[in-house]
Amino acid sequence: MGLLDARVSNRNVLVTSVDNVMNWARLSSLWPMGFGLACCAIEMMATNASNYDLERFGIFPRSSPRQSDLMIVAGTVTMKMAERVITLYEQMPEPRYVLSMGSCSNCGGPYWHHGYHVLKGVDRVIPVDVYVPGCPPRPEALIGGLMKIQELIRMEGLGISRQDALKKLAEKSVDP
Ligand code: SF4
Repeated sequence: MGLLDARVSNRNVLVTSVDNVMNWARLSSLWPMGFGLACCAIEMMATNASNYDLERFGIFPRSSPRQSDLMIVAGTVTMKMAERVITLYEQMPEPRYVLSMGSCSNCGGPYWHHGYHVLKGVDRVIPVDVYVPGCPPRPEALIGGLMKIQELIRMEGLGISRQDALKKLAEKSVDP
């Protein structure tokens, strides 16, 4: 946790940075907008159910883009739906994050070759921060992706841009 970087004196005084406090609050209260588009959404719904208990991580799904800071794109993004994805993304307040769940959303999946009606990756229309592979990914994989988003938030700061944080996250993922 960011706040663990803080120093605690013997007088119960906690010294930390504004970045640490802000990031700790943001990553501990992620509100994803579930955007179920096809079969991957079934796994996303399972992840939100009691067996996996996402709320223990402070992650609580919302139904409105205006209350969400994370969009989970779960499923096949058709050309027609792509416009709606952009509209919903634009309605989310900053700072906002996008997690692409499953092969269809990542790159077109089984529609890559012949699906003229399917967008070959949602990152062609909105920026994606974390990709979760699979067809469909299991709830454990989605939770892993959500943890990556939390890690990304932890790395951001007043002097550290999203791009720099993403680079650091990628380096950390490749070289643990
Ligand atoms: Fe369905 Fe597989 Fe596409 Fe997910 S990636 S929406 S499971 S076809």
